[in-house]
Amino acid sequence: MREYSFIIAAGGQGTRLGGKKQFMSLGNRELWRWSAENAAVTDSVREIILVIPQGETLNPEWTHDVPLHVVNGGSERALSVLNGLNAATCDYVMVHDAARPFASPELFRRLMDAVSENAGVVPVLPVSDALKRIEGGEVSCVEREGLYITQTPQVFPRMKLIEAVEKFPSAKDEAEAWFKSGHELRHVEGERMNFKVTVGDDMTIARALTERRMTRTGLGWDIHRLVPERKLILGGVRIDSPLGLLGHSDADVLTHALMDAVLGGAGLPDIGNLFPANDERFRGADSLELMREVMRLVNAEGWNVDFADAVITAQVPRLNKYRDDIIRKLSEFFPLNIKFKSAENIDDSGRGLCITCRAVATLGRSV
Ligand code: MG
Repeated sequence: MREYSFIIAAGGQGTRLGGKKQFMSLGNRELWRWSAENAAVTDSVREIILVIPQGETLNPEWTHDVPLHVVNGGSERALSVLNGLNAATCDYVMVHDAARPFASPELFRRLMDAVSENAGVVPVLPVSDALKRIEGGEVSCVEREGLYITQTPQVFPRMKLIEAVEKFPSAKDEAEAWFKSGHELRHVEGERMNFKVTVGDDMTIARALTERRMTRTGLGWDIHRLVPERKLILGGVRIDSPLGLLGHSDADVLTHALMDAVLGGAGLPDIGNLFPANDERFRGADSLELMREVMRLVNAEGWNVDFADAVITAQVPRLNKYRDDIIRKLSEFFPLNIKFKSAENIDDSGRGLCITCRAVATLGRSV
């Protein structure tokens, strides 16, 4: 049975992502660990060689039976891979890019089945998008028939690959060096999920695929008295009305209920605690300013407000025509819906003495 060293090339500077992406966390572990752990449970893989950037040190915790060795890379990808190849001990090697976290053990086995002492193997996928070439601002169309993208891991007999990479150090990947050396190159079907995390969007997709999310719901309620000679402000929108809401701040009953719903979901104290009614700083305060502070607090705890819904109960004035304006105004903070109810002329809101508001907010954060 053939035995394999699994080499993970993690020696790059990853500048396109604004940092060394191979050490960024994805789900509950660093990017490179995803493929290392899949390799560790693949039959015939005897050791894992992690090639890290030149001059860096790393002593990762590693509990698998298959040993993990860390070696430093060089100034170029080929030199990094060579360091990994020279540190390896098996007759066959799988060279993999740390930036492809989702390569599956099934793919590893397909590659192992196809390799031989004279032939290397690469995973490929047909190009599915239409292609254009742009040179000097000129666009031309490229026939995609017969074109494939190449993924990793790429599998080879180790000693012959060392010769090939030494001979063609500027090759784009090991397969190119192998092919240019005149060796047979085979292919197996790659995997769409085995995409390369290269730019920020890729990391967003990778995180969406891996991160567990915690969701919570918060509830808010508020009431303010309707009185003459006060402005009526709902969701930061000035409502035309002979009566307005009485309060220490601008008495924006909708924004207050929403703030409490958001704070409730985040497990934080309510606005009465955050912005006390006896504190002069909040006299006549613009409630949208208070909401900005609430969002800062909630975001600092890692929460995102996914959605909020509110019901405003008011006999007077009629509010429906303000709905779009209010939603637009509050969309600065999170997506939301609002509804209006009259109070059927019963209770204090039904008698036009007050306006009440109930709100719920759904918050999420990664665990
Ligand atoms: Mg209030």
